[in-house]
Amino acid sequence: MKITFFGAAEGVTGSKHMLETDGAKVLLDCGLFQGRRDETEGMNRNLPFNPAKLASLVLSHAHIDHSGNIPYLTKLGFNSPIHATTATQSLCGIMLPDSAHIQEKDAEYINKIEKRKGAKEKKPLYTLQDAQKSLGLFDGCFYKEEFQPAPNIKAVFQDAGHILGSASIRLSVKENGTVKTVVFTGDLGRKNLPIIRNPEPFDYADVLITETTYGNRVHDPVEQVEEKLAAIINRVYQRGGKILIPAFSVGRSQEIIYTLNRLIVRGRIPEFPVFIDSPLTLNATEVFFNNKEYFDDEALQTYENEYDPFGFNLMTYITSVEESKKLNTFNRPCIIISGSGMCEHGRILHHLANNIGNPRNIVLIVGFQAQGTLGRRLVEKMEEVRIFGVKYKRRAEIAVINAFSAHGDRNDLFNYLKGFKKPPKKIFLVHGESDSLTAYADMLKSNGYHNFEIPKLGESFQL
Ligand SMILES: [Zn+2]
Repeated sequence: MKITFFGAAEGVTGSKHMLETDGAKVLLDCGLFQGRRDETEGMNRNLPFNPAKLASLVLSHAHIDHSGNIPYLTKLGFNSPIHATTATQSLCGIMLPDSAHIQEKDAEYINKIEKRKGAKEKKPLYTLQDAQKSLGLFDGCFYKEEFQPAPNIKAVFQDAGHILGSASIRLSVKENGTVKTVVFTGDLGRKNLPIIRNPEPFDYADVLITETTYGNRVHDPVEQVEEKLAAIINRVYQRGGKILIPAFSVGRSQEIIYTLNRLIVRGRIPEFPVFIDSPLTLNATEVFFNNKEYFDDEALQTYENEYDPFGFNLMTYITSVEESKKLNTFNRPCIIISGSGMCEHGRILHHLANNIGNPRNIVLIVGFQAQGTLGRRLVEKMEEVRIFGVKYKRRAEIAVINAFSAHGDRNDLFNYLKGFKKPPKKIFLVHGESDSLTAYADMLKSNGYHNFEIPKLGESFQL
């Protein structure tokens, strides 16, 4: 058996790992590389394998850095099953067409600029049609149901506790009469996140492929999140400012809405307008409603016995561009939740451009911000930032709440590893930036684990 790391190797985007046996090639995840266009464009377009030859794709969860290049795979001739949980399938049903729309708009924008220079027309990475075609290949199942990604491979999903439907995957690979077990964590969540259940570990693995997003950090406890959020909201409300929350439409937005709702119901923050300015968030929230079997007990109980966890009086879901622009002239305290989560595109950009110069306002960062993104520059509290190519002085306050993180911290990652009855014979550290990889590797060494690798992009290992 051979494993090759085609993405999320020494980085956090483009998750793509290939498992190769005598008879078959199976791809784990097919994410988009994200960040600076000139760096990622080629990586997304030049796949170093033939998609038509894959026996299947096994998808850990719906986030675009794990699923976003699936339509391109289809465009290049991939026509085999995509195994995912039913909730991941539903979420991809809205996220992949949305991603196609972004790709098409992006190509349109570039062509407009390049046309002036007489350059050749650029085609989008993939189109809505490619996305729709790939959705037809999904074969959804629930946690703990066995499925067969290839004739000699059996697999099962278990809850990764990261976003709705997220899974860690165990693959049992039969070769030359012996069975080897590979566990891929996908993105690992943490205990007590709102709405979703806790991560559920596997008990055995010969080979572990583990994410390391926060291998260098310890998060604030989830329990403190409501208190911190309430303190920030009350403070900004009193000074008459706006609260901008860049958030991923899927997962983070629902968690924030759910938490705001709890704070209002418990009288801990004033009732004032909350705008969810993202059509995708509205659709994603509908998917949450339709997949309640993935909720934890608390969310299920709230929904069944108390109130609608994703809606309240002063909350408005905005879909049209006109209404979104109208918010520019809304001059009372309010909360605006909008994408994209790393401030790379989407409506959050015009809200930032409009509000970042006012010291009464706050930009509240609640998710991971990759290197090279506007979100990262905000976290670093740069005094000047570029939005739509224009320089803006940043006078708005920046606050970060890490406790919402959908990724476990270094202790969560290590506890997951310790949960195996026997230590895995080989551990691969993926999905982490270099500081995080190094710090987590040091943690492993100091705890007696020396059998790990930090694979480079494109590197293969025979197992
Ligand atoms: Zn994720």
